[in-house]
Amino acid sequence: NKWVYSFGAGKTEGRADMKNLLGGKGANLAEMANLGLPVPPGFTITTEVCTYFYANGKSYPPELKDQVAAALAAIEEAMGARFGDPANPLLVSVRSGARASMPGMMDTVLNLGLNDITAQGLAKRSGDSRFAFDSYRRFIQMYSNVVLDVDHHHFEDILENVKRDRNLTLDTELSADDWQTVIKGYKKVVEDELGRPFPQDPEEQLWGAIGAVFGSWMNARANTYRRLHDIPASWGTAVNVQSMVFGNMGDDCATGVAFTRNPSTGENAFYGEYLVNAQGEDVVAGIRTPQHLTIAGKQANHSDLPAMEEVMPEVFHQLDAVRLKLERHYRDMQDIEFTVQQGTLFMLQTRTGKRTAPAALRIAVDMATEGLIDRTEAVKRIDPASLDQLLHPTLDPKAERTVIAKGLPASPGAASGKVIFTADEAEAQAALGEAVILCRVETSPEDIHGMHAAQGILTTRGGMTSHAAVVARGMGRACVSGAGELRIDHKAKTIMVRNVTVKEGDLITIDGSTGEVMLGAVPTIQPELSGDFATLMGWADGLRRMKVRTNAETPLDARTARKFGAEGIGLCRTEHMFFDPARILAVREMILAEDEAGRRRALAKLEPFQKQDFVELFTIMAGLPVTIRLLDPPLHEFLPKTEEEMREVAEAAGTDLQRVEHRSLQLHETNPMLGHRGCRLGITFPEIYEMQARAIFSAAAEVAKGGNPVTPEIMIPLIATRKELDILKDVVDRAAKEVSAATGQELDYLVGTMIELPRAALRAGEIAETAEFFSFGTNDLTQTAFGISRDDSASFLPDYQRQGILEHDPFATLDADGVGELMKLGAERGRAVRPGLKLGICGEHGGDPASITICEAVGLDYVSCSPYRVPIARLAAAQAAL
Ligand code: PEP
Ligand code: MG
Repeated sequence: NKWVYSFGAGKTEGRADMKNLLGGKGANLAEMANLGLPVPPGFTITTEVCTYFYANGKSYPPELKDQVAAALAAIEEAMGARFGDPANPLLVSVRSGARASMPGMMDTVLNLGLNDITAQGLAKRSGDSRFAFDSYRRFIQMYSNVVLDVDHHHFEDILENVKRDRNLTLDTELSADDWQTVIKGYKKVVEDELGRPFPQDPEEQLWGAIGAVFGSWMNARANTYRRLHDIPASWGTAVNVQSMVFGNMGDDCATGVAFTRNPSTGENAFYGEYLVNAQGEDVVAGIRTPQHLTIAGKQANHSDLPAMEEVMPEVFHQLDAVRLKLERHYRDMQDIEFTVQQGTLFMLQTRTGKRTAPAALRIAVDMATEGLIDRTEAVKRIDPASLDQLLHPTLDPKAERTVIAKGLPASPGAASGKVIFTADEAEAQAALGEAVILCRVETSPEDIHGMHAAQGILTTRGGMTSHAAVVARGMGRACVSGAGELRIDHKAKTIMVRNVTVKEGDLITIDGSTGEVMLGAVPTIQPELSGDFATLMGWADGLRRMKVRTNAETPLDARTARKFGAEGIGLCRTEHMFFDPARILAVREMILAEDEAGRRRALAKLEPFQKQDFVELFTIMAGLPVTIRLLDPPLHEFLPKTEEEMREVAEAAGTDLQRVEHRSLQLHETNPMLGHRGCRLGITFPEIYEMQARAIFSAAAEVAKGGNPVTPEIMIPLIATRKELDILKDVVDRAAKEVSAATGQELDYLVGTMIELPRAALRAGEIAETAEFFSFGTNDLTQTAFGISRDDSASFLPDYQRQGILEHDPFATLDADGVGELMKLGAERGRAVRPGLKLGICGEHGGDPASITICEAVGLDYVSCSPYRVPIARLAAAQAAL
């Protein structure tokens, strides 16, 4: 069995498409080596070893030792150095690398192979003992921290003490002798903490680091990260061992990270940061302020520090050529890491770069325009859920703002919330429904749960590629990073800047698009939906089969939805119109009426309101289809709750308080969701549906005169039997005749039904003899198929998900196997009887991408969702059709 794959050392055995086996990092290192890019030689221990490790009591396959030794020998050969050689030691890095990047895991150990003897050798060979001892102390610190689990504050204390003794402030001012003192201190700490000395044997160091990588796959942070990102534990991680190159051997050395395009805006410009004379982790750790790669980047960010393009132009141009080569090869934006050792460029990593939603759009559209990908690929690349970020508000440019600091625009969007200083507190406050801004000096993988819970993240240290920036962009949270003017005082729980003090719990606003930090909650405005967004949505529209409608009953919702591209209304819940304060009295009067005559009197008061509502909706929808559902909820929902309200109703209805109370009791139901609601109301009180139908038809007749005729689709809710529908369709037809006769206007309309009960789905054949369309009401269909109350499920569904009984909340994502099968049955049986029967969905699932895929498979004609989800549904419907 092959457990180890070499790269760069004369032969490369892996490829980019071997991610499952080699992890993302290992597969891409191999791919870069195959492309002829300068990759320091190394090898990857496969994810299968990780699986073996956990299946066999944390032991390794017997062949592994020999395979590692052979691969190491190949590196030694390629580098002309030997592991543990006193004169010319090979040093390696050890890194984890799962299929998907996982910031929760052990990341890196650098300079492995150094000990008291090889450090001397490195000093002699490099002619730079300061560099050699600095490397050694870094190794002890990193290794002790991530492999031996010694807390890093011990090491920081020692370094601080040495600096204080010598009266130095910067690490770079320490001499070789100073570092020797630090090393002595570090080794003593390890011995004191662990009761044994720091391991000197490189072989032992290597296996220690390999074990730590595999061990970290199951640590608490990695488990949390996997849970949040749906990554199965069975995937395992690979381990990459690679020969070291040094970015910290002098001023002709550097290390950096870059994106082949701007990850924040998507602009087709090289974007990155580097540090001269530094080692990998220095750039992301935020200890020194990173410099920009390009002159343009430097200028755009008002930096005084020279760009790499200026400092080492030759290497920069090599790197720029690598950038183009990688983009052409991968046909996507890449996130790369590189090191320059004494003027020579080395590539340490490439992977698909995380980007903001606006950047994703711009990159997809640009790459399609550049011919790197086609339009279908561009449409496939956008995660529909990410559009959410574009549809949400930005700061109102006219709003007053008190800017207290400016950091980097790390992840766009504006967010307001309470200032909170710890991830745990952020999570606790969010659970109470508070909007919070998590404020930290810098973030680490330990803060992920708090970042997830927060509306926005503010850090005072770190660049555009810092942990906070990268993670926030991935999560779609607004983030301002590196706002260095702010001083966070954790003890006092305050943020200070000049003469302003912001306390924990105070409201602030951050703008992740400009980097501004403001006092208070600044008002926001709706986003523009033009440019790349419009272009990509246009491409998506050309690829989808299903139409996208909206669930709307107010003019505001209808207008918003049209702006977002809705092609009609799939569900107008008329009961929402009944709750309007101007009408509720008449509604209550209707409910309290003792007899039909009384009900009709009250309904007559409501009819003009209803008609006007429909006139407005029809006008806004301008000829697009509008589906109107007749009254659905239990009547008691409209009844007054407080005594004062009851009195008011009694007065308006010309009756007394006692009667109102009595009627409330009468209407009370034990199980209202399964009670007197939906078409059952129409069966007992047909005059309600009659009034609604008349209002709809009069409105249609009026609007038709204006030149934009509508074809109302009148929908009867909660049908279980064909008989119910027959009776109520008659009521509607009679109303149509009546209005036609009165107005002299021909009326075009459809009468259909919701399919929201299992019996209706099963009997869809006979129901379709009467119904001219079906709309799947999957909220009720899920409720009744599972027998789980949609209003009471929150108390136990989380346990169902935790125990893996249900993968998703079935009220958010359609249950494909059960509810999906009922839909499929209903669609087939309905269409068998009435070919071309129009089919839609109007439950909450109509705006959920995974559910939309199921709707496509069932063959629905349209999905209908809330206005803000219309663009998501348009894109998801296109992807479902591909
Ligand atoms: C449904 O049940 O899916 C539906 C759309 O109706 P409502 O949510 O109003 O019950
Ligand atoms: Mg329903």
